[in-house]
Amino acid sequence: MIPAQFDYLAPTTVEEALAALAQHGDEAKILAGGQSLLPVLRMRLNAPEMVIDLGKITSLRGVRDDGDAIVVGAMTQHSVVGSDPLVAEHAALVSKAVEHLADAQIRHRGTFGGALAHADPAGDLGAPTLALGAQFVVQGPSGTRTVPADEFFVDLFETAIGEDEILVAVRLPKHTGWGAHYEKFVRVAHQWPIVAVAAAVRVEGGTIAEARIGLTNMGSTPMRAHAVEQALVGQPATADGVREAASRAAEGTNPPSDLNGDADYRRHLATVLTRRAVLTAAGATG
Ligand SMILES: Cc1cc2nc3c(=O)[nH]c(=O)nc-3n(C[C@H](O)[C@H](O)[C@H](O)COP(=O)(O)OP(=O)(O)OC[C@H]3O[C@@H](n4cnc5c(N)ncnc54)[C@H](O)[C@@H]3O)c2cc1C
Repeated sequence: MIPAQFDYLAPTTVEEALAALAQHGDEAKILAGGQSLLPVLRMRLNAPEMVIDLGKITSLRGVRDDGDAIVVGAMTQHSVVGSDPLVAEHAALVSKAVEHLADAQIRHRGTFGGALAHADPAGDLGAPTLALGAQFVVQGPSGTRTVPADEFFVDLFETAIGEDEILVAVRLPKHTGWGAHYEKFVRVAHQWPIVAVAAAVRVEGGTIAEARIGLTNMGSTPMRAHAVEQALVGQPATADGVREAASRAAEGTNPPSDLNGDADYRRHLATVLTRRAVLTAAGATG
C-alpha cells in the first residue's frame, strides 16, 4: 500500500521544526529514519497531514563527550552509535545492544532518537538506556528540559515527549570500566527480541560491586530488574554467585503473551538470559 497524501517539510533547524509542529499540532508527524514511521504510514495506521523530516538538521547528529556523560544526538544513525569509540568506552552496554538491532540496512537508516521516541517495548535501546540511567533531552516551544530514563518510557509506544516537543539528544552517564552484555533471544535473525536482557556490572577483585540490569519486552515499557541488581551486589562473579540473583529477574514484570511465547515462557527466559548476560558482562566462565 502507499501512504495517504501528506505535505512534507524538511527544516534545517530545531526551531523551524518546532514552529512547524506548533502550527500543525496533532496533524503533524516527525520523520527521523522512517524505519518505523513509513511502515505505519504505508499500512495507513496513521495519516498525518504534515510530515516534518528532521534529516537536514545537522545539529541533531553525532556523538560527543560532555564530561560525565556521552551525548548522542537524536538523529545519529544506529550504525554510527554502534561503531563510535566513545560509546564503546563509556557506555558499552549501548554498543552491545546496537550490534543486535535489526540488520545493517536498517541500522544505516534508523536513528537512536527515533527508536527511543517510538518506544516499542520490544525495541533494543530502551533497556540499555534505562539500565545506564540515561537522560533524555527534549526541546519544545518554551525551551529544553531533561527527562530521566525512568520517567521517559510511559507506556506501550508512549513516552514523556510532549506533542509540541522533539527529542534532541540522549545523555548516557559514563560507566567506564564496567563490563557489559546484551543477551537477546530471537526466533528469526535481525528481528525484535522475544525477551532481551541488558546487563552492566562493575567487578572488584572477583566480586560484583555494582549492577544495572534492564529488561526488554517484559512489560509495556523497558524495565529495571531491581531485585536482581540488589541481590548481585557482594556476590562472587561466578556461575554459582549469579544464579540465585538471576532467578529473581521476572519479579514485578508483566510480560505479554503472543504467538512467540506466553507470559510464563517469557518469565523463564528472563531468568536464563539474565544469568547469561551478567556472567558475560562480568567476564566470568561457567
Ligand atoms: C524489518 C525491521 C526490523 C527491525 N528490527 C529491530 C530490532 O531488532 N530492534 C529494534 O530495536 N528495532 C528494530 N527496528 C526498528 C528500528 O530500530 C527503527 O530504526 C526505529 O524503531 C525507528 O527509528 P527511526 O529513526 O527510523 O524513526 P522513525 O520511523 O522515523 O520514527 C519513529 C517514531 O518516532 C517519532 N520520532 C522520531 N524521531 C523523533 C524525535 N527526535 N523526537 C520526537 N519524535 C520522534 C516519529 O514521529 C515516529 O512516531 C526494525 C525495523 C524494521 C523495519
